Amino acid sequence: ARHQGGGQVHAYSEALAATAQRRIELEKGLHVALQEGQLQLFVQPQVDMMGRVVSVEALVRWQHPVNGMVDPAEFIPVAEDTGLVVPMGDWVLEQTCRLLSDPRVQQGGYRVSVNVSAVQFQQAGFVRKLQELIQRTGVDASRLTLEVTESLLLQEVEQAIQKMVSLRALGVHFALDDFGTGYSSLAYLMRLPIQEIKLDQTFIHDLTPQSHGAVLVEALLMVAKGRALRVVAEGVEHKAQAQLLQAWEPGILCQGYLFSRPLPASEWLQAPDL
Ligand code: C2E
Ligand code: CA
Ligand code: CA
Ligand code: CA
Repeated sequence: ARHQGGGQVHAYSEALAATAQRRIELEKGLHVALQEGQLQLFVQPQVDMMGRVVSVEALVRWQHPVNGMVDPAEFIPVAEDTGLVVPMGDWVLEQTCRLLSDPRVQQGGYRVSVNVSAVQFQQAGFVRKLQELIQRTGVDASRLTLEVTESLLLQEVEQAIQKMVSLRALGVHFALDDFGTGYSSLAYLMRLPIQEIKLDQTFIHDLTPQSHGAVLVEALLMVAKGRALRVVAEGVEHKAQAQLLQAWEPGILCQGYLFSRPLPASEWLQAPDL
């Protein structure tokens, strides 16, 4: 931009300043949100071929008193950069374990998945903290799944795997989130101590029997089957997508607007079978 008109440079730096300003506002707002209880736990059901709800994914929501619902895609990155994702993640984990200990969830035998970001997972005391939480809430840890991403596992790989192994010993399951979007080799990913993969919605969106993505999805499903991994497809919006996925893999779980939008956990508890 240096060799172009000064006006363009100016516009560029103004845009940068606006972005920086927005981030500062979000950071301040998040502090307040944590203190004043503006966060909410939403869940989105994951259903089997028979349309039964098997599990839910916990998703955090921020209900700002003035701005309304803030998009997680906007505030999660800020929470990650500022370290606020640690107290936020603690809150989400606490709520998730409370949900898991609800008699309706226990009776229904539902599993609950929760997103864990890299910064959160890499904290020194993470394993101990989660162990204490599991003990305090009395939940069956084998019904809890931590969703982690490939990027989390790329930094300090050995340490990350060590932690996963420790948590596996408690019974906790691991899901590899956004599967297929990263750059790691399949061989590397398949060495990780995971029990589930989540096919990213980018693969699901333009899924037809002839589409380019179909070949890849079929290959990923075959790998998952070989390792007896649970598979969850994200972003299932159309019946045809669900039917195709279920034809390929009858054990697949589908998550998406076709079955349910994310809804407040308290609302889901009123009618967990949809
Ligand atoms: P994600 O883990 O990939 O979550 C799936 C996202 O897809 C959710 O967005 C969900 O609302 C959306 N989704 C579900 N079904 C459909 C569908 O049929 N079509 C489309 N187009 N989208 C669908 P959400 O809730 O806005 O969350 C965005 C991201 O923010 C999540 O992506 C996750 O990476 C992060 N996130 C959400 N909650 C938490 C949390 O508690 N902790 C952490 N660390 N990250 C979170
Ligand atoms: Ca997720
Ligand atoms: Ca995902
Ligand atoms: Ca995603």
